[in-house]
Amino acid sequence: MKTLNLWLNPNPRMFPSHSKTLTFNIRYGVVSCRISTSQLRCFSSPTQHPRRCAVLGAGFAGLSVVWHLLKHSPKELQLRIDIYDEVGVGGGASGISGGLLHPYSPKVKLLWEGAQCWKESIKLLRIAEAACVSEDCKIGESAENMKAFAAQKRGILRPAMNLKNLTKLNDNVQTCLTSCRIETLNKEEAQKLVPGLCLPLDRAFYMPEALNIQSQHYLQALFWACKNLAEESTAFASGKKQLNLHKRSVHKLLEFEGEYDAVIICLGANVNMLPEISGRLPLRTCRGVIAHLELPDDKGEGYPDYGPSILSDAWIAVQGPRSIHVGSTWEWKSRNSSPIVSDDEASKALLELLPKASATYPGIKDWVFTGARAGLRAMPPLTSFGSLPLLGCIDDFIGRNHTCKYWLFGGLGSRGLLYHGWLGNLTAQAVLSCNEDIIPYELTSWKKTI
Ligand SMILES: Cc1cc2nc3c(=O)[nH]c(=O)nc-3n(C[C@H](O)[C@H](O)[C@H](O)COP(=O)(O)OP(=O)(O)OC[C@H]3O[C@@H](n4cnc5c(N)ncnc54)[C@H](O)[C@@H]3O)c2cc1C
Repeated sequence: MKTLNLWLNPNPRMFPSHSKTLTFNIRYGVVSCRISTSQLRCFSSPTQHPRRCAVLGAGFAGLSVVWHLLKHSPKELQLRIDIYDEVGVGGGASGISGGLLHPYSPKVKLLWEGAQCWKESIKLLRIAEAACVSEDCKIGESAENMKAFAAQKRGILRPAMNLKNLTKLNDNVQTCLTSCRIETLNKEEAQKLVPGLCLPLDRAFYMPEALNIQSQHYLQALFWACKNLAEESTAFASGKKQLNLHKRSVHKLLEFEGEYDAVIICLGANVNMLPEISGRLPLRTCRGVIAHLELPDDKGEGYPDYGPSILSDAWIAVQGPRSIHVGSTWEWKSRNSSPIVSDDEASKALLELLPKASATYPGIKDWVFTGARAGLRAMPPLTSFGSLPLLGCIDDFIGRNHTCKYWLFGGLGSRGLLYHGWLGNLTAQAVLSCNEDIIPYELTSWKKTI
């Protein structure tokens, strides 16, 4: 079976059998779409054939899609999901990311659909956290170690660095979310959180609920949550769910032709190497290096237990009292997606990052460099809504004569953690219902411009 339009209705409430014109009352507005009666019949007709879905890439994007495909697929549907990743879970930018999560721009302006994105990312984090502490979580690391990814609930501090910024920051704070508050602090208040902190304008903006995730641990846990969900769904329902991870390089989309009902491309910055797509997406690449620093035992007490991470011209993501990550560099047009950083590249990164970090945290002079990792961002174009990821069905784009078969979830830029939850959910629902209209226009409109 090669077509998707025989998939069962993932959510019967979404496609009531008596209705032809459907209205989705979604947070971002009201979207209407027409589905023919015959299609509706197809959606709800049971099928003997297992559906096969390939997810290319096991980063934030790929694993979020997998979890939501399993979550939203009908109980009775037999579903097999194959994840393809040449490195394994977290092999790309997601695995090395700074792990900073909040719904604001650098000027603390709420990002497009920030509330929804924030809510759905937190939901996935909780799911991963639960999988981590469950008995079934046997990934070769102690559960205590794995729990660490969730322990970084120390908030994030954004110091005001110049007067022009300060006015903007003060304005933007007014519209912050109640679920991710921003408190305005003076120097004395900020220094209670991080002793020795330097505030050039005596103002810092503190997001107590903002998070700092250990990305690789989070991804491992999310993968296990997916595995658990597949097993549970099989145990309690008639439809068998299968999830496999193949450590294999993907070279072209043609490899999947005829094998799968849906192929979802979540290859991050490497999407451009697919010959069917190469050079045609409005994406720019940008390599970033993150330096790892430790505080020697003889150099004081270390970073305060609940001291927030710092977001400034360079950011400091706190890993523990004697371990921090400092990022990040921005090397536009790079094609180098290797996580390995040469001595030369590391030296250049330190020369750039340390002066910026010490402008707010002078104590960094006592910390010593222990290593560096890097990743390649896939940066989407700037629109009037901000820099939004690229989603949607790309059958027309790649010139294949199928209905909703190849899907893209890419261009997560520097905000993968914020976007992966909600947009992974939307992508999965669009795939299962074979209906791109589920995805907000702002995320699919890139197709009109190429
Ligand atoms: C230095 C740096 C710091 C960052 N810090 C943050 C941060 O603090 N907060 C935040 O929200 N975001 C941050 N980001 C951005 C975030 O990392 C990305 O937005 C996110 O990782 C993109 O996720 P993805 O799943 O689309 O891509 P990726 O994570 O790159 O996943 C793609 C996957 O596809 C696999 N793959 C690639 N090519 C092939 C192939 N040919 N065959 C098979 N598999 C393949 C890779 O191994 C990889 O696992 C940072 C990025 C960088 C570079």
